[in-house]
Amino acid sequence: VAEEGEFDRIARLFRPLARKLPGALGLTDDVGFLPPAAAGEALIVTTDTVVEGIHVLPGASPLRMAEKVLRVNLSDLASKGARPLAVLLNTALPHELPAGWLDAFAQALGRDLDRFGAGLLGGDSVATTGPVTLTLTAIGSVPEGLMPRRSGARVGDTIWVSGTLGDGALGLRAARGDLPGLSGEDASWLADRYHRPQPRLALGRALLGTARAGMDLSDGLPGDLVHICRASGVGATVDLAALPLSDAARRAIALQPALERRAWAGGDDYELLFTAAAVDEQAVREAGTAAGCPVTPIGRIVEGSGPPLFLDRTGHPVEGLRGWTHF
Ligand SMILES: [Mg+2]
Repeated sequence: VAEEGEFDRIARLFRPLARKLPGALGLTDDVGFLPPAAAGEALIVTTDTVVEGIHVLPGASPLRMAEKVLRVNLSDLASKGARPLAVLLNTALPHELPAGWLDAFAQALGRDLDRFGAGLLGGDSVATTGPVTLTLTAIGSVPEGLMPRRSGARVGDTIWVSGTLGDGALGLRAARGDLPGLSGEDASWLADRYHRPQPRLALGRALLGTARAGMDLSDGLPGDLVHICRASGVGATVDLAALPLSDAARRAIALQPALERRAWAGGDDYELLFTAAAVDEQAVREAGTAAGCPVTPIGRIVEGSGPPLFLDRTGHPVEGLRGWTHF
């Protein structure tokens, strides 16, 4: 029996992921048909690359890589209130991948696509002499005119975040065994937060019409909030004491107080960062309740053009908070 060829292998592993999308043509043609947006909706598109050893740990499992590359893209869709429809996947894989790696990757990606209601529309596969490199493009649909843009913040808006911050940065340390003294339970909870982003799709959808500016937190609050400020032509003040931290993060910080700054500024949280008019506080809280996702006000949009101001408990600015730099 001849060794399975590349095309047969791709057909066997990836065609099942395309079955939900008739426009994918079973991955048998050069192109696919994009599913049309529903009436009153617009299609939006985003893309992100995950490189082994940069965005995931060296030697990351196929499960971890599949979940990461899909979910970081879905998180961008979530921040815009979009519903995921289809994805395109480009893989660059080294020849020396362990047997079964691609099978496990395709199965994990298929499970996660099902979980989030999207299908595989197409892609490409190449060999590389470098690490595993995955580029996923996600297509979603959003009600026309309601998408929160980076440029939508207005002076007086309240700044909100979803979930808890800092778990991604502390979780990376936990995953590398770098949080001595922390309980195994806390360490694995934090590591899971790093490995497995939870795209806040229901919350993003529930905030449509209420969120004025929005994006997801991938590089850390200081680095990401500055994008909203620049695009909107405004300044921001953030009350650091208001940042929502998980119990596990609090316990890690109690052991190593220097980690508090990492929790404030670290990346990989994939929570939503958004602004809303101050009068819409109740609407934001109701969206959080409806989506089953906590939301926390952390500051205010102010006049100005400088970088966001981060204030400690006594109201003094904290300098030098920087976004996450990858290892
Ligand atoms: Mg983003």
